[in-house]
Amino acid sequence: MKRLSKRDAFGERIANWATRLDLKVRTVTVRKMRNKWASCSTAGRLTFDESLLSKQGDLQDYVIVHELLHLEVPNHGKLWKSLMRAHLGDYEEMETRLQRELKSHSPVARHSPKSAHHRRLPTRSSAA
Ligand SMILES: [Zn+2]
Repeated sequence: MKRLSKRDAFGERIANWATRLDLKVRTVTVRKMRNKWASCSTAGRLTFDESLLSKQGDLQDYVIVHELLHLEVPNHGKLWKSLMRAHLGDYEEMETRLQRELKSHSPVARHSPKSAHHRRLPTRSSAA
């Protein structure tokens, strides 16, 4: 019997959310990211930072839903916010916790539309 690794569990979590949100994810990559916890491209490629694998489930959910929603809503506007709230409830609280947890990990963990976490990657995905 194959043991489920953290990475597999995380991948499954993403697949479940994608189904729930009815979104198509093309590729998911988990790797060390220098200064952000996730990014997505309009082509449906998602990249997540490795450190998320050891975070609590609800924080993983936050990041996953955050990025998945960007496949349809490319900003943090009203629509994005209301979808986040609809699926996660008090997502702002998770956001604050995530920022706190990742503070030591990354100087750019701050969440703002200006942060680069969802900017298009220079296409170099390792697991594609
Ligand atoms: Zn974002």
